[in-house]
Amino acid sequence: MIHLKNVSKVYSNGTEALKNVSLDIEQGEFVFIVGSSGAGKSTFLKLLIREEKATFGKISVNGYDLMKIRPGKIPYLRRTMGIVFQDFRLIEKMNVYDNVAFAMRAIGTPEKFIRKRVKQVLAVVGLEDKEKRRPSELSGGEQQRVSLARALVNKPGMIIADEPTGNIDPKMSYEIMKRLVDINKKGTTVIIVTHEHDLVRTFGGRVIIIDGGEVREDRMISAQGSEESGSVLFAEKADNADNVENVISPSGNEPESRNNEEADNS
Ligand code: ADP
Repeated sequence: MIHLKNVSKVYSNGTEALKNVSLDIEQGEFVFIVGSSGAGKSTFLKLLIREEKATFGKISVNGYDLMKIRPGKIPYLRRTMGIVFQDFRLIEKMNVYDNVAFAMRAIGTPEKFIRKRVKQVLAVVGLEDKEKRRPSELSGGEQQRVSLARALVNKPGMIIADEPTGNIDPKMSYEIMKRLVDINKKGTTVIIVTHEHDLVRTFGGRVIIIDGGEVREDRMISAQGSEESGSVLFAEKADNADNVENVISPSGNEPESRNNEEADNS
């Protein structure tokens, strides 16, 4: 679903933020993109969502050739992924319900479908009783869960989380990570961008280390204290596993067919 071949990104001031990166991420993977500040993580993310265009190489995401994609098609590319931004990007004048519903309204989903789906995803993130709150009336961890609900609401095949533990306390970090693990178990690809090596050690998964714009390492690591990645943390049953079932499974809108240009709202 993500294919990079010899990708480089040179910004207009001459900074080479990514150098000759080649990698593939397939459906269902759980991947950490790790690196220190300035390593090139955000640039990688921006290339995936086509906020920036690669300078050299080939890059395709969810069936879209990002070297050739026309600007008008970029919103369709972005509909194939759910993004949890580091700063949450919630709309303060809207309550929790509307912040999540907004992502469905934006693609023209009828209200009767929206109501059911928003309630489902708010239950998945444990915020069913906070529908009416404004973002400023929530804790950082709760705001982040709204952001996750919004990313999930259109059933993307892939979730990208940018520094998901950066702005919240350790307990909340664990909660959000556990939810991302649950989401991945249902088949959604999860990509987590982080500078926190501890997070990777705790949860395990495929780790791609970027350093100075280059891929330094790309390997599977086990969750801490376990022999293999089927660790205690991974094996732990979600508190809300019943809700999770059938709610967060991706809709399978893999776009090789480009069907996603006609948004399927049914
Ligand atoms: P990270 O997210 O790992 O901190 P970035 O991808 O933001 O790293 O940055 C990688 C390198 O590219 C850094 O040297 C940074 O200063 C540079 N950089 C990032 N964005 C721009 C930009 N818009 N213009 C010029 N240089 C940039």
